[in-house]
Amino acid sequence: MPTRKLPEKSQIVIIGGGIIGVTLAHELAKRGEEVTVIEKRFIGSGSTFRCGTGIRQQFNDEANVQVMKRSVELWKKYSKEYGFSFKQTGYLFLLYDEGEVEEFKRNIAIQNRFGVPTRLITPEEAKEIVPLLDISEVIAASWNPTDGKASPFHSTAAFALNAEKFGAKLVEYTEVKDFIIEKGEIKGLKTSRGVIKTGIVVNATNAWAKLINAMAGIKTSIPIEPYKHQAVITQPIKRDAIKPMVISFKYGHAYLTQTSHGGVVGGVGYEIGPTYDLTPTYEFMRGVSYYFTKIIPALRELLILRTWAGYYAKTLDSNPAIGKIEELSDYYIAAGFSGHGFMMAPAVAEMVADLITKGRTDLPVDWYDPYRFERGELRGQALQMG
Ligand SMILES: Cc1cc2nc3c(=O)[nH]c(=O)nc-3n(C[C@H](O)[C@H](O)[C@H](O)COP(=O)(O)OP(=O)(O)OC[C@H]3O[C@@H](n4cnc5c(N)ncnc54)[C@H](O)[C@@H]3O)c2cc1C
Repeated sequence: MPTRKLPEKSQIVIIGGGIIGVTLAHELAKRGEEVTVIEKRFIGSGSTFRCGTGIRQQFNDEANVQVMKRSVELWKKYSKEYGFSFKQTGYLFLLYDEGEVEEFKRNIAIQNRFGVPTRLITPEEAKEIVPLLDISEVIAASWNPTDGKASPFHSTAAFALNAEKFGAKLVEYTEVKDFIIEKGEIKGLKTSRGVIKTGIVVNATNAWAKLINAMAGIKTSIPIEPYKHQAVITQPIKRDAIKPMVISFKYGHAYLTQTSHGGVVGGVGYEIGPTYDLTPTYEFMRGVSYYFTKIIPALRELLILRTWAGYYAKTLDSNPAIGKIEELSDYYIAAGFSGHGFMMAPAVAEMVADLITKGRTDLPVDWYDPYRFERGELRGQALQMG
């Protein structure tokens, strides 16, 4: 069980106990490293427990497709080993005009090149997959049956428990307040519960990443800003009525699916920020109701049970910053996931653990180079929805 007791020292300290920090601790502990996660509230309390469950390989560039292919392999492996639910129920992007179809044909070609079996399908085929869909305006759909969804609660808890089995320490209700640095080297961290000695720190605080970078005195510009994103859950409906994640850019950049409890969960691309405020808004409720019922008219009959908000920690190209920051030894960052960090976590854990333990990784981590902003080398916008 996570603890409030801070160890005196730890070879590696991860700041932030979201899915990224927890999967990384799991991976490092499994490799025999001494690792501690420090979380200011409770494990999962940041964006992780507020997320929309979605896990997809349908991206529009080679790096993200490769990384997500690996991530899905790991989601499969660990859900089986640890007994949490990861369902490959697919992602269905509804397309409404020729421009969208051309763009998705290009994306599908990249995905197929790396063995992700996405296909362009007809509106009728899409309706076979989700019979409740209104396909009157849909002209095609992009369908990958190997994408899926997992419960953020069960999966984070499973990675946390197993990280501890491998010897990782997870310290809750402890806030990192400052770094102890001597001659460009990290010696420890000051926290709300005292000092922990360490030489290696990973910033896995996503929406708070810039605050931690500032504490560490990092001069390199790594722009990551918190944006308020909202989500909704309805009363339960018949099981498996909406198996895949259904996406419509035309209707509000909406994404929706059904949880294992039967409720319809999802959101739209309505973004407020930069802000640390998390109050849900009426405008979101109205927008999400309009867009969701355009995609599936039967949702009109449903009651909305709850709305909530969480952060998208956004970068300028919607890709995270992952890597070693050279101006301070040994300081790493894995943050700025721009709305798709849950799905990436197992592969990111592997990449960062490789960097820490071997100094290199086979996964294309350069795409996420934290120095790209300063060099003015933004990547193509990652396919972000919601
Ligand atoms: C509405 C919504 C829907 C989403 N849907 C999806 C989806 O379908 N699929 C997907 O892949 N992603 C989705 N996301 C994004 C996903 O939630 C995030 O990318 C992911 O959870 C990021 O994980 P993380 O561990 O980096 O950050 P977090 O979970 O935010 O963890 C960071 C942790 O750092 C801690 N922390 C901060 N400062 C300190 C400090 N000084 N000391 C100690 N601890 C500190 C925080 O308390 C927090 O727990 C969604 C997000 C939202 C808001």
